[in-house]
Amino acid sequence: MEKTTSPFSTLGLSDALSAATEALGYTRPTPIQQQAIPAVLFGKDLLGIARTGSGKTASYALPILQRLEEERWVLQNRHVPVLVLVPTRELAVQVESMFKELSTGLSDRPKVMAVFGGVSINPQMIGMQGVQVLIATPGRVLDLIGSKAVHLAEVKMLVLDEADKMLDLGFKEEMDRILALLPRKRQNLLFSATLSNAVNEITQVVLHKPEVVQVTDEPQEVQLIHQRAFRVAPERKGPFLRYLIRSMDMQQVLVFTSTSQAADHVADKLSKHGLEAEAVHGKKSNHARQSALSRFKAGKLRVLVATDLLSRGIDIAFLPYVINYDLPRSPKDYVHRIGRTGRAERSGEAFTIVTPDDQPHFKVIQKKMKQWLTLEGTEDVDLHGV
Ligand code: AMP
Repeated sequence: MEKTTSPFSTLGLSDALSAATEALGYTRPTPIQQQAIPAVLFGKDLLGIARTGSGKTASYALPILQRLEEERWVLQNRHVPVLVLVPTRELAVQVESMFKELSTGLSDRPKVMAVFGGVSINPQMIGMQGVQVLIATPGRVLDLIGSKAVHLAEVKMLVLDEADKMLDLGFKEEMDRILALLPRKRQNLLFSATLSNAVNEITQVVLHKPEVVQVTDEPQEVQLIHQRAFRVAPERKGPFLRYLIRSMDMQQVLVFTSTSQAADHVADKLSKHGLEAEAVHGKKSNHARQSALSRFKAGKLRVLVATDLLSRGIDIAFLPYVINYDLPRSPKDYVHRIGRTGRAERSGEAFTIVTPDDQPHFKVIQKKMKQWLTLEGTEDVDLHGV
């Protein structure tokens, strides 16, 4: 048989795994995959500076699957060889499905499981038997260890995904406790969208002579996004939001607010005015979040209203519209929010509502982004009956 020349196999991946990338429609590796896959296959530690949308999940899932096939680690009962720590349930679910999709064609499919808080622990405890890739939020994995459902003393490969976000969400102490339970000799992969001092500290502790891969595709991606900003009086924000959605006939739009309460309020108002909307934020049950997210992804829910907690990790291949109903706190959050659109080399549109009080802060955001938008006046827009 002729040897396959898939661009993925040239990185050292097996034919079965290269075929899996093809089945997912990947024609070529993304920059982070190009650099990370050979290094991880080689057994090196890795520091990946990349965010969601860069293809980072497959950049570690593919070589991990291959190493599992090659090494065939035989471990004691309830010991996992691969641990992936993630900050949120949403990311846990996405990473799990990526591992599952990529391993469909393997003759010996590893057992992959995602665990996170907010749901009953019992099924997770029972399901832990024979797990080879455990994807977990820090708190829940500690609970499972506490009840002896899983042991980490034989972990061969550790991934810290979105390490910056784990620190932002206050998981430092849990991470330290988990690290203390791992064997000294292991391979470590750490991914972070940013390199703050806090992330730096963790990389010093965790990584040993890492290969550093930095993907700086953000500006280019952001340029794909058509951005507009509107000056709106605070009391006209709600009607103006409805006006935007209706006048542009947006059928799938992600709206960001600054707080959970605001998200609920905005979603309620939209629904009352006949625009089907749901809010997702940290205070919603896991089930409610997952169900809203999947209906939104499937195009069955017109408006999803979210807080910044969810601005990363929402993996939607392409979203035509993002609206910032409230300004994000930081320029970084602005990039993450609008980065939900304009992915996969398609252009999307991002709109920002700016009240007169918001203007100084919006200037700061634009300065950091080195992008200047003309603030469009909306005083003349007739908002009756929207
Ligand atoms: P991630 O950065 O891991 O969240 O991936 C973002 C999206 O890119 C996911 O929907 C992946 O399925 C997709 N993706 C990953 N690698 C590739 C690739 N080489 N070509 C096209 N799409 C990809």
